[in-house]
Amino acid sequence: MKPKLFIPGPTHVDQEILDAMAQYPIGHRTADYRELQSKVVAGIKEFLYTEQSVLVSTSSATGLMEAGVRNLSKQKVANFICGAFSKRQADITKICGLDQDIFHVDWGHATTAEQVEEALSAASYDLVTVVFNETSTGVMNPLAEIGEVVKQYPNTLLMVDAVSGMMGAPIKIDEWGIDMALASVQKAWGLPPGFAVMSLSDRALERSRSIPEAQKGFYFDFVRMHKAGEKSQTTVTPSIPHLYALSVQLDRIRAEGLENRFTRHQAMASRVREWGRDKFGLYAAPGYESDTLTCFTNKAGLDLIALADKMKARNYLISGGYGDLKGKTFRLAHMGNLQMEDINDVLNVLDEVIEEL
Ligand SMILES: *Cc1c(COP(=O)(O)O)cnc(C)c1O
Repeated sequence: MKPKLFIPGPTHVDQEILDAMAQYPIGHRTADYRELQSKVVAGIKEFLYTEQSVLVSTSSATGLMEAGVRNLSKQKVANFICGAFSKRQADITKICGLDQDIFHVDWGHATTAEQVEEALSAASYDLVTVVFNETSTGVMNPLAEIGEVVKQYPNTLLMVDAVSGMMGAPIKIDEWGIDMALASVQKAWGLPPGFAVMSLSDRALERSRSIPEAQKGFYFDFVRMHKAGEKSQTTVTPSIPHLYALSVQLDRIRAEGLENRFTRHQAMASRVREWGRDKFGLYAAPGYESDTLTCFTNKAGLDLIALADKMKARNYLISGGYGDLKGKTFRLAHMGNLQMEDINDVLNVLDEVIEEL
């Protein structure tokens, strides 16, 4: 028996999705394929509230984090960091040789609209990067408010790492003025890893057209990707199993109802927070707690490595803190295909294990 996944990625996958992936492949230059991709892209657009472009990518999300800065900046990037994944975005920007300024908050706190406003009013940037849901700290940033600020700066694009938030909480791409939002599918989408999706605004595409190919590279050139996407194709052979799985998952989301899906995530998040708030303490600053995962501190002074080990022995995988927070925090995911009964179950088992410790 493999442990059931309560880590923030990969997340638990239902059998129906696994079965969809096991279908015999089709040729990726056929009408059947185009129909599949076009259905998937239309569904993603609907659920991201956008009428602009959606592209699919056979890569993990990090590939698109790199692609984003390489396609969207020719002047200077403002990277906002509130944890390990937003720091990764800043590191990528640096490694790609792009000009950047970095804006920090203490981990556990959110990147706020005020902080973004202060940065953008003080200097000129053509790209802002923020994370929607900082998976290392359990903080969900106020994306709508940040979007309102960036909208005031017509030359500044807004790029969002939405990996662990997308499909667990609403992201209104067009209304909030998001130029690029990216996510891999093994988090709140609830699919096995190996695939990513992104939205791209018309002005982001325009920006990419003005960037030299040598900066963008071949595989992740948004102009190339978009051109293929227009014909419901990809530039390279895609992971067709993931498209089958996305197609099924989009139907499942539609059957549940998108709003109901978000409400389910909120309900699971409240349940988890109430369970551990007093015993362990929440790492995220009040008001910015994530809907898709919770990061606990260790007020109880338990051996968190032993806690995760004992859970694993009982077939539940939880996460013992990311990066610098290893051993100091632990995280529980409540996203994707997980239901309230799964959450009740893992919390009961956690209670037993805590008692033992
Ligand atoms: C998981 C995660 C990533 C990395 O995603 P990959 O698919 O592993 O590349 C990036 N950002 C956030 C916020 C994440 O949660």
